[in-house]
Amino acid sequence: MSTFSLDPGPDQLAVRDWLHGFAADVMRPAAAEWDEREETPWPIIQEAAKIGIYSLDFYAQQYFDPSGVGIPIAMEELFWGDAGLGLAIVGTTLAAVAVLANGTDEQIGTWAPQMFGTPDDVKVAAFCSSEPDAGSDVSALRTRAVYDEAKDEWVLNGTKTWATNGGIAAVHVVVATVDPALGARGQASFVVPPGTPGLSQGQKFKKHGIRASHTAEVVLDDVRIPGSCLLGGKEKLDERLARAREGAKRSGGKNAAMATFEASRPAVGAQAIGIARAAYEVALDYAKTRVQFGRPIIDNQGVAFQLADMKTRIDAARLLVWRASWMAANNQLFTSAEGSMSKLYAGETAKYVTAQAMQILGGNGFTREYPVERMHRDSAIYTIFEGTSEIQRLVIARAISGLPIR
Ligand SMILES: Cc1cc2nc3c(=O)[nH]c(=O)nc-3n(C[C@H](O)[C@H](O)[C@H](O)COP(=O)(O)OP(=O)(O)OC[C@H]3O[C@@H](n4cnc5c(N)ncnc54)[C@H](O)[C@@H]3O)c2cc1C
Repeated sequence: MSTFSLDPGPDQLAVRDWLHGFAADVMRPAAAEWDEREETPWPIIQEAAKIGIYSLDFYAQQYFDPSGVGIPIAMEELFWGDAGLGLAIVGTTLAAVAVLANGTDEQIGTWAPQMFGTPDDVKVAAFCSSEPDAGSDVSALRTRAVYDEAKDEWVLNGTKTWATNGGIAAVHVVVATVDPALGARGQASFVVPPGTPGLSQGQKFKKHGIRASHTAEVVLDDVRIPGSCLLGGKEKLDERLARAREGAKRSGGKNAAMATFEASRPAVGAQAIGIARAAYEVALDYAKTRVQFGRPIIDNQGVAFQLADMKTRIDAARLLVWRASWMAANNQLFTSAEGSMSKLYAGETAKYVTAQAMQILGGNGFTREYPVERMHRDSAIYTIFEGTSEIQRLVIARAISGLPIR
């Protein structure tokens, strides 16, 4: 176990500087254009792939870094560059983490590389859990997986929604119910290989922010996949279902998928911090140079104190994210839902800081001549996806009280 430290060490600092260069030189200049185009920025993903930022190796290295801060540092820098482009680059990792968390070694070896493709032929992957009637309430999902024993195939039917990279992905990871009577405990995750008939993209959503990231419905119409595409394998699933049917509540109702979400939340918090830091920096610069009443606006306590609060909240959010990331990397249990705490606080901070930044920039802040209005739009998703702020509070409240708070 590594000791908790606020010094990331020379290796992590070198990675941070390298990512910062890419964020400043490649992402920043392209951000406004892709936000307007509202399309997947394939050339930017490809550039990231060419230098190794979009690769399985890179994320695996950061993911397994014992300090735990490899992923948060990477996320913060990329999202400091731009959140829409950032999500287009890292959206694949959500599906990769699902395979990593639930798959066998063989499944990881087969599917994880196909999710990224190669620098000359980049691919993306999608994680499809949410449905029109199952957002926060994951246990309500209706997509059905039925086993065809004669052919050793699974047949998937249903409609997924809001899937990042949905329909354009090479590999889709789909959460489906095998036994609806068991709720969340009757669910399993499946890999749908590239080009599988029956999987199609439904509506592509036009969004308020992170517009360079593709979000769409995914329709599954008699999608047949080999038995080997059930993540974790059939034997493990059958054991799990048998335990659930016996009514064993040993885990206190917390399933493996939720534990994985909890562990990945700090990474999402780090993305929000990247956006907040970017907006704060723009506002600080502006406040020092914008002159009204014969003096820079930062000379007014009213403005300077706003900046002081913005910086304080960003640093506090980062501390929560780093603590939770270190805990996850060192197998420390989140006894007070520390992962949710970090995502909750970082998401709310990004919304607050970007709104304050717009205020400090006055009329300019409201225009697309300056990046803070885009950052504000981008920040809004951070209180919604990967568990809304209310759901994070619910998780924290249950953890600290031990009660089934509703
Ligand atoms: C841009 C974008 C990308 C996404 N990417 C993915 C993806 O890649 N894969 C995927 O599977 N999903 C994805 N999602 C879905 C996302 O995770 C859901 O939108 C989110 O979980 C919320 O679900 P919902 O939208 O159905 O809101 P609802 O669950 O309907 O919630 C509506 C409101 O009610 C509140 N609420 C609900 N229940 C409670 C409660 N018990 N107590 C208090 N308040 C409550 C919520 O906090 C929220 O404010 C994405 C969504 C967006 C917008």
